[in-house]
Amino acid sequence: MYKQNIMNMGKLSIEEILLNLNKDQINSLSQYADAIKQKICEIEILIEQCSNAVCPNCAEVCCINRHGIDGYHDIIYKLVSGIVPITYDSIIDYDSPCQYLSITGCILKRQNRPFRCTWFFCMETLKYFESRDKRKLRHMTKTITEIGELRLKMEKTIEKI
Ligand code: SF4
Ligand code: SF4
Repeated sequence: MYKQNIMNMGKLSIEEILLNLNKDQINSLSQYADAIKQKICEIEILIEQCSNAVCPNCAEVCCINRHGIDGYHDIIYKLVSGIVPITYDSIIDYDSPCQYLSITGCILKRQNRPFRCTWFFCMETLKYFESRDKRKLRHMTKTITEIGELRLKMEKTIEKI
């Protein structure tokens, strides 16, 4: 299970991590994961407005299969959150359009996407945000920073195991 994400990483396997978590660590990880989901929901509408305005005209869509597969920490985040991880499928071509991309955009809830999908903003999206309400932009930037800090706390909790 999840072998592709642990090969050659010199880290504990996902199974070893889960087996070695104590009660306090499980509680901390759950709290961080809940806070991340909450904050993603807070800014989702702003990001959706941007994607709806900018992405349909994009000539180089960023959603390819290699971006739509969960990494090591994504899998742990999802398992403690009760979300089914997206695992490697040897049939898919890494550089083909992402298997979760539809004509109306990503079919996954934002909180269920790999972290990099929430975190990535291309030049066009940044230009869109900069041309909009500065107060909303500040709120979004602050919230994204907080999501990043929570994610880092999750990773540090896992590193201590
Ligand atoms: S986020 Fe940027 S690169 Fe990705 S599809 Fe939208 S406009 Fe294109
Ligand atoms: S946002 Fe969705 S469609 Fe795009 S790469 Fe991520 S998982 Fe795939």
